[in-house]
Amino acid sequence: MNKLKLVIVDDKEENVLSLKALLADVDNLNIWGSTSPNEALRYCWNQDVAIALVDVQMPEINGFEFVSLLQSNPKTWQIMVIMVTAISKEDKFLLKGLHSGAIDYLYKPLNPDITVAKVKSFMQQVYIQRELKRKNEELERSHIELIKAKKEADLARKSKENFLANMSHEIRTPINGITGITTMLRNSPLNGEQSEWLDYLENASQSLLLIINDILDLSKIDSGKMRLDYAKTSLPNIIKELGNLFTYKAEQKGITFKVAHDENLPKHILADSLRLTQILSNLISNGIKFTEKGSVCLETKLIKRSKQRVHIQFSVKDTGIGISSNALDKIFQSFEQGEEGITKRFGGTGLGLAIVKRLVNLHQGQIHAHSELGKGSEFIFQCWFDEEASEMMPKSDRKQYTDLPLLNDVRVLLAEDNDLNSFMVTHMLNTWGITVDTVKNGREALEKVENTAYNLILMDAHMPVMSGFDAIRAIRNDHREYLRQIPIISISASVLQREQQAAYAAGANAVVGKPFDPVTLYQIIKTLTHGKSKAEK
Ligand code: ADP
Repeated sequence: MNKLKLVIVDDKEENVLSLKALLADVDNLNIWGSTSPNEALRYCWNQDVAIALVDVQMPEINGFEFVSLLQSNPKTWQIMVIMVTAISKEDKFLLKGLHSGAIDYLYKPLNPDITVAKVKSFMQQVYIQRELKRKNEELERSHIELIKAKKEADLARKSKENFLANMSHEIRTPINGITGITTMLRNSPLNGEQSEWLDYLENASQSLLLIINDILDLSKIDSGKMRLDYAKTSLPNIIKELGNLFTYKAEQKGITFKVAHDENLPKHILADSLRLTQILSNLISNGIKFTEKGSVCLETKLIKRSKQRVHIQFSVKDTGIGISSNALDKIFQSFEQGEEGITKRFGGTGLGLAIVKRLVNLHQGQIHAHSELGKGSEFIFQCWFDEEASEMMPKSDRKQYTDLPLLNDVRVLLAEDNDLNSFMVTHMLNTWGITVDTVKNGREALEKVENTAYNLILMDAHMPVMSGFDAIRAIRNDHREYLRQIPIISISASVLQREQQAAYAAGANAVVGKPFDPVTLYQIIKTLTHGKSKAEK
């Protein structure tokens, strides 16, 4: 324990000495005494004094003034002062001392036991106060550090988001070009071999898109931005579509994909069909990926039905390579793969199950797996869904972009810096009878609208010289009414909501993501140009 400094001030030398003698045996006390209040004040200002025993009646400065002086100085206001007095114990004296800042009294002639006990008890208080002060300072320091750490974490999160937004844009832009050109080639005369090459091209760009979507999904879920979009969903349709998709994939590998759907399950449930499909597709495609011979089976089962709610179990069972028991614990973590060498043999990023696990959590469901090395694995996902009344759903028949009616007398300005995308979009728009002028950045777009009348502008978001957002803002703030009214579609390669909101905030009428669906783009153009379709005239 640190030694505490105690000061004795009394104009009579013998009093100082006797007090010193009285307190000499108290542990951890460093005693200093003086008959001069001025000298004692100076000592208190310069030393870290904890307690002062102050005589009330002194010629130079009386005890009350002495305490007031200590109180008024930031260096000494914390000193605990005990007044030592022989004068009357009348209340007015007591109060005067207490008002000037003293915390207690000792009366002459001093009772040795009481004096020592009081000093010891105040020493205890000083220790507690100092400890409190130290803890407070520690708290303040860690508070400051916490604020700093939070700021740094926010900054890191922001730069991660920016990085993802940029990366998603940079990667999606060329993929958009590739998928667009693939669609164009599909609609041109091809021989069998060329069709097959196109299949490879399509598969490769789809895988690339899946990886980038996985990374974005994971970051979206981790930043708490992923929301489930519940709507009436046909369970048999989801199962059928998964069957169609994976039967072919399994056959290509020489294995079988089986579906066992529980007919007791309701036809329609309230679900986010996209995310539910994503969970099941991930499990099934893993099953197919890690199975060399045998089968993969998707089984649905009604576990319980209660008050318009159904507890459903989806299980995906395969006869594949299996997973060792210690690997089973970590496969649901990001970037974790079961065994060393899995990437070399099967490829993959280790993100699929991490996303599945998070999506299952978002659904407030449970997922677990059991597996035997060399024999196969089973992934079981259980979740409650609301049951929905069944009625006939209209069948959608998907159109090819080349089957769409021509749009008459529509002139579009396309601002896009990527040559491949520009070529592809121009080709599609031309197919729909649209006249297209192309520019490479926002600045050129502004120049172009000066002397040509357009029915619509397609504006890429990220372009050099002047971005699409800046160009949209400039058009929306133009003094000419006809310019301000031109419909603008922002083409954004980012799937981040923030970027889409920024496009709307700048003044875009619609936002189209990359890679875009040509039929959707056609519908938006048709709506924004008031459906100038030749066929409908
Ligand atoms: P990826 O398949 O891209 O590596 P996942 O997160 O989907 O990433 O899977 C993580 C790991 O779990 C895989 O690398 C694999 O080791 C193991 N795994 C997942 N599903 C199966 C399965 N059906 N059979 C065997 N191993 C599996």
